[in-house]
Amino acid sequence: MKAKEYLLVVDDDRDFLETIRRILGGKGYEVTMVASAAEALERLEERFYNAAVLDISLPDADGTELLTRILELNPDIVAIMLTGHSSVQSAVRSLNRGAFAYLEKPLDPDNLLSVIGRGLERQRLILENRQLVEELERHNHITNTLLSVSQAAAQSLDLGQITAAALQQLARSTGLEASFVYLNEGGSLKLRGHHGLPARLRDALPAEIGPAGGVIRRIFDNAMPVICEDLSTFRDAELGFLRHGGYRSFAGVPLASLGESIGVLGVATSFARYFSAINIDLLLGVGREIAIAVRNAQLYEEASSARALRELDTMRTELLANVSHELRTPLAVIKGSASSLLQPDVIFDDETRREFLTSIDKDADTLTRLVDDLLMMSRLEAEALDVTRQRHKLGDVITAIRERLNSITSHHRLRVEIPEELPAVPLDEGRIGEVITNLVENAVKYCEDDTDITIDAHSGDKEIILSVTDAGSGIPPELHAKVFERFFQGCSLQNGRRKGTGLGLAICQGIIEAHGGRIWVESQPGQGARFSFSLPLE
Ligand code: ADP
Repeated sequence: MKAKEYLLVVDDDRDFLETIRRILGGKGYEVTMVASAAEALERLEERFYNAAVLDISLPDADGTELLTRILELNPDIVAIMLTGHSSVQSAVRSLNRGAFAYLEKPLDPDNLLSVIGRGLERQRLILENRQLVEELERHNHITNTLLSVSQAAAQSLDLGQITAAALQQLARSTGLEASFVYLNEGGSLKLRGHHGLPARLRDALPAEIGPAGGVIRRIFDNAMPVICEDLSTFRDAELGFLRHGGYRSFAGVPLASLGESIGVLGVATSFARYFSAINIDLLLGVGREIAIAVRNAQLYEEASSARALRELDTMRTELLANVSHELRTPLAVIKGSASSLLQPDVIFDDETRREFLTSIDKDADTLTRLVDDLLMMSRLEAEALDVTRQRHKLGDVITAIRERLNSITSHHRLRVEIPEELPAVPLDEGRIGEVITNLVENAVKYCEDDTDITIDAHSGDKEIILSVTDAGSGIPPELHAKVFERFFQGCSLQNGRRKGTGLGLAICQGIIEAHGGRIWVESQPGQGARFSFSLPLE
């Protein structure tokens, strides 16, 4: 059904008004008659009129002046001026000012109806057109916002960065002042991003929402938006902080990807009834874009850890082969030496007996170290490594292991350059001693005899740094991080020395990190290596 059309007729001639009522009334228009300009303006304030028929000479105003006022109040009105023969000139002026047509009195009813009909048709087209343009602009806005949010979110695979970029872009595109994102992690909703909230309100956002949560939980569980146009009437305790922070409207939408709800996007503004103006579809769309980016990142992470697990598994298999080999070699020596000594029919001289016993002793030590490494590694993996820290000077730690260092480096020149004035640091003396011994052992393993191995240390603002420098084969930069991985073994073994387990540096890293420090290497192939670790002063 066509919407009713309202006409206003302004003329001070009562008989004429009566004639007009007869002509227009029968055509289904809703007609209001007034006799003065003042009354006409009053009516126009009250409601929207589609058309106005105005006499050009009114008792209280000039018709063209009235036309100007009417057009100010309602620029879309179809204004038709009525004129006597004498005032045609002012009627033409009215056309210039925005009237749709002018008609001369006495009126031809058919002519009047046809002019009104044409005017209203034109108005319908203009209004429809405008609506289409507005619709188009709204769609453009939605598309642009979605595009910009999805582009911002796709810049990273880090969950924190995804939500931060998406919320920032949402604020930029829509002017929405505050927003936050919760993501489902193991059944709990965890706060994973927020934008625009002042610090005191940020702290009021629950970090985690369990199964018995309030409105945010409901949005997630039902996968349905919740719109609150007036927070002052909203009694959900969870959103009380928004009300106290001066926000007046809130909307929450589920973050959904492929039909699966993965979290909640909440937005708030200080305007009341804001969300009737903004399309909720837009927020749902933004929720979808964020959900897709988050899901991608989660899948990527899952794929990476699956890959890492596979790599670890391969390394373990290699290690098992390696470890059994490592165990077998010293065991074979021990068994061989012991069996020889036990032969009843052979009598060995003292020197030979001593050689057998020395081999047994040395290889038993090797076995002990290997088993210790494996035990230490399993403790590190179970995060059960305990360090007992007490203030010690690094010089004293070195003194405690000096004898062992001297024996390891018997074919090298060991230099220890630890300044006496270095402050004491909280450390586990035994464990840090193991780290230094391990680094020196490696230096020996990967260096020619008669080369220098230097231990030096210096203190910075907040930490002490100790380095072990050698002049050996060095390590290419692409392996600098890898050498600290469990079971990693390079192939740059020198001097035909025994293969290790690939656990030494991983253990060192575990011990140093348990102290709150870092460990790293600087090296170029063929130019030696410098392994350093830091220990925090406090
Ligand atoms: P392992 O020495 O038992 O193989 P590590 O964890 O101690 O295990 O070392 C891992 C790898 O790092 C070694 O296999 C070796 O390739 C490399 N590496 C360690 N220290 C040095 C060094 N001082 N010079 C050259 N390469 C080294």
